[in-house]
Amino acid sequence: MCPCRVLDTEQPGYSRCCQPFHLGRASGSPVPDTAEELMRSRYSAFVLGLSDYLLRTWHETTRPADLELDQQTRWEGLVIDSTRSGGATANRGVVEFTAHYSQAGLGGQQHEVSTFVRENGAWFYLDAL
Ligand SMILES: [Zn+2]
Repeated sequence: MCPCRVLDTEQPGYSRCCQPFHLGRASGSPVPDTAEELMRSRYSAFVLGLSDYLLRTWHETTRPADLELDQQTRWEGLVIDSTRSGGATANRGVVEFTAHYSQAGLGGQQHEVSTFVRENGAWFYLDAL
């Protein structure tokens, strides 16, 4: 199943969820239609260590020069708490989520409200509120 769907009742496989987005436009794959789809694909990229995808989908005004993923963190599931705007015709979106993880045997949660913008048909992560 896709890493972003572990905690969902419906659990489509990676190839039918985030993988097409990770493969990217160059391979003829679709890009996320909604801010939530981009959020999910970025979470899955964290799980799978795809730092190039994370940078590629980070808005150029807030993108770090490089990204060191924390190997000590094990991501265990994503819950989308709410979305505001960010639909297939929007240019801005807000996604509130909780990511579950464990670190050195201790469980934790990261709760964040992320904002997204769409430019030239592609969604980008902008920042956290
Ligand atoms: Zn997914």
